[in-house]
Amino acid sequence: MASLALRTAAFLNIKKAISRPVVRCMATAKEGGGIPETFEHATGLEKKELEAIRAGNLDPFDLQVKHCAPGTRDAPIEVPSVFEKRVVGCICEEEMTHVNWFNLYSGDPQRCDCGHWFQLKKREPIQ
Ligand SMILES: [Zn+2]
Repeated sequence: MASLALRTAAFLNIKKAISRPVVRCMATAKEGGGIPETFEHATGLEKKELEAIRAGNLDPFDLQVKHCAPGTRDAPIEVPSVFEKRVVGCICEEEMTHVNWFNLYSGDPQRCDCGHWFQLKKREPIQ
């Protein structure tokens, strides 16, 4: 019986220690008037992404599919990147059932197997 009482007391101490941060978190949410939104919780790169979206840039990492006119050697399709290379997928023809993936490196324009030309365009990362 004594051991049961000790275990219960130890469990209550642990439960009290664990529940304190939760109570503090709930108190902070109450001060703001409700449950914090995703933007308020976000940090780091996610916060920068959400700030860019709020500023009007709906594709801050240039991940959306772009439909472009065929690129030529003199006027290649520009692919933005913050790195020295980027993986590009080309749907060479409308009826294709697969995507032709290749690495696009900075420097001279590169040609896809279908004949479309691409060139990496260096851009600054979101701030
Ligand atoms: Zn292609």
